[in-house]
Amino acid sequence: MKNISVVIITIMLLFSCNEKKDKYIPGDLELKMNSIADDYVKLVLNIGQYDPDFVDAYYGPKEWRENLKSNLPFDSTAYKNLSAKTDSLLNELELLSEYKATELETLRFRYLYKQLLACKTKVAMLNGIMLPFDEETKALYDATAPAHNNEFFQSTINDLDKILPGKGDVAKRLNDFKMKFVIPTDKLKDVFNTAINECRAITLKHIPLPENESFTVEYVKNKSWGAYNWYKGNFRSVIQVNTDLPIFIDRAIDLAAHEGYPGHHVYNTLLESNLVDKRGWKEFTVYALFTPQSLIAEGTANYGIDMVFPGDERIKFEKEVLFPLAGLNPGEADLYYKVLELQKKFNYAGNEAARNYLNGNWTREQTIAWLQKYELQTKERAEKNISFIETYRSYVINYNLGMDIVKNYIEHNGGTENNQEKRWELFQYILSTPQTPGGLAK
Ligand SMILES: [Zn+2]
Repeated sequence: MKNISVVIITIMLLFSCNEKKDKYIPGDLELKMNSIADDYVKLVLNIGQYDPDFVDAYYGPKEWRENLKSNLPFDSTAYKNLSAKTDSLLNELELLSEYKATELETLRFRYLYKQLLACKTKVAMLNGIMLPFDEETKALYDATAPAHNNEFFQSTINDLDKILPGKGDVAKRLNDFKMKFVIPTDKLKDVFNTAINECRAITLKHIPLPENESFTVEYVKNKSWGAYNWYKGNFRSVIQVNTDLPIFIDRAIDLAAHEGYPGHHVYNTLLESNLVDKRGWKEFTVYALFTPQSLIAEGTANYGIDMVFPGDERIKFEKEVLFPLAGLNPGEADLYYKVLELQKKFNYAGNEAARNYLNGNWTREQTIAWLQKYELQTKERAEKNISFIETYRSYVINYNLGMDIVKNYIEHNGGTENNQEKRWELFQYILSTPQTPGGLAK
């Protein structure tokens, strides 16, 4: 452990020495690009006045946000102004196509373009224009989720039926079985902290991070999400875990990796250190939620779980460390993870529910009933899912489709499970550069 931190500190020192020696100086085209990027940030902050969820994080110049309000009613003047601003930025960007001299510049150009297109869509949505589900995901997240029929989910239910203890109703047996793996409330903190420390230690072996990076965990209630990372800038995050519903043992590693290492916290930290601090690209000081950046963020965060624990390493750590810490029986860990592996096939069920509910094909009650039948959810969880869909709409595709896009990109470029070095290199590359879903999926 000691050796690793010495290596990391040495790498960081080398980095900071280089930075001082070759201070990055932007050229003329870059200055023009920076001005568009600054206006993009102001546009996002402006849109955020009409939807409190839109600006997920902001750590840019304070004066850009100083006079802004929140929860303003959206009217025709706001629509006219925001649409005109978005269109003029898109035009300015198109006129600057010669900016794309290097790979990083091409990525930046494409990123800003797609982010602005999402802003344009968001402004139209605020004005009451609702697109069909797949068109909405294409416009906001630069991707379309594949469709699956009921038979696809039914075959997983049949597989679960074969391995779950007992007989009869599969949903009931699944939920009864899973209740044996709930982390007792008084053990939550210990289990989470242990999972976070392990995910951090593994991540740091592969990705050097700024010395002062840190994050704190808070336990909250009455939210539509399970957990949330609030990035504060200066390499700090606050992670909130919602304790409304029982938290199963597998969530410890899922959340530690997804929200923390090497997920959201690491992603935001790397963007800040590589693009904001080193290059002065201010568009990364704002994180607009309903944009392609979210697919990259959620996709890398979900794939991050497999990054820190490839193959059998996770089950080993669960059995040896987390199960005993939570007072659970490690003897049942294998079956539990087999069940979870099958349940992964339900990942796309949430997309179907959202697609049909938002397109108006199913009522709220029909969607809840479908989630109970084809994703074997309890009524409570299905209701939580609906309230998430009502708040965040087609955002649901970012988790599963996002992960598949990131996974495919990494594996097709040689980052397979038996080439961990390449895998981490590609993963770090995605986290440190301006990526778009369409760009990765190519
Ligand atoms: Zn997330």
